[in-house]
Amino acid sequence: ILETRQLNKRFGGLHVTGNVDFALDAGEMHCLIGPNGAGKSTFFRLILGEHLPDSGQILFQDQDITRAKPFQRIRQGISVKFQVPGIFKELSVRQNLVIALQHHVDPRLLAEEIDRLLEFLNLSHAQAQLAGNLSHGQKQWLEIGMAIGLKPRLLLLDEPTAGMTPDETHATGEMLKQLNAEGMTLLAVEHDMAFVRQIAQRVTVLHLGKVFAQGSIDQITADPRVAKIYLGEVDA
Ligand code: ATP
Ligand code: MG
Repeated sequence: ILETRQLNKRFGGLHVTGNVDFALDAGEMHCLIGPNGAGKSTFFRLILGEHLPDSGQILFQDQDITRAKPFQRIRQGISVKFQVPGIFKELSVRQNLVIALQHHVDPRLLAEEIDRLLEFLNLSHAQAQLAGNLSHGQKQWLEIGMAIGLKPRLLLLDEPTAGMTPDETHATGEMLKQLNAEGMTLLAVEHDMAFVRQIAQRVTVLHLGKVFAQGSIDQITADPRVAKIYLGEVDA
């Protein structure tokens, strides 16, 4: 469903993404891991069109989207939940979902659609609360809801469980597995290895802007080279 070919991005002299060849199958649930500064968020921004690559190609559903604007990519079915929450704190949970969905859902179906989303997110009881008063985990769920309300084919999640309790993290994993079972392709940046083990069918390790390793979670955790990059002992 998604493919990058020899994707390069530089900031000043820094090679943040170096010749990344990456492919994601339709229906896959894939985790992207790697040490801080590996280029994971930058890779997401390239896929979303918030940065343009210096060279290389991005294909989505076999179409070249390398130069497409972010809104065009969203329209084609790519959605994202960023590392930093982008909710409206002064509005209610429900109002946040209305804002996210109103231009994408038939107005006659909007209320029903939001009810269903609230239930899925475990936020029905909190729908009238100000979003700013939610727990950290609930805020992340609201953001996931804002992203999946668009019914994307591909959902990118940048550290969806950051700051969550273990229970919230586990519940998030079950949510994502359900979305995947319904046909959504997911790519998640994650640091929590227990969570990666819970959800990922395949894992890619990014290191210094390059694909360093790829495989099942068992293959990745058994690879001594991968452990070493986290200790800063391996160059790309
Ligand atoms: P983390 O796990 O900490 O979120 P990451 O893998 O997401 O890290 P990126 O945020 O992609 O890493 O950053 C990779 C490198 O690129 C870092 O050294 C960062 O300082 C640099 N970088 C990212 N965005 C920019 C920018 N807009 N301008 C200059 N340098 C940038
Ligand atoms: Mg990041």
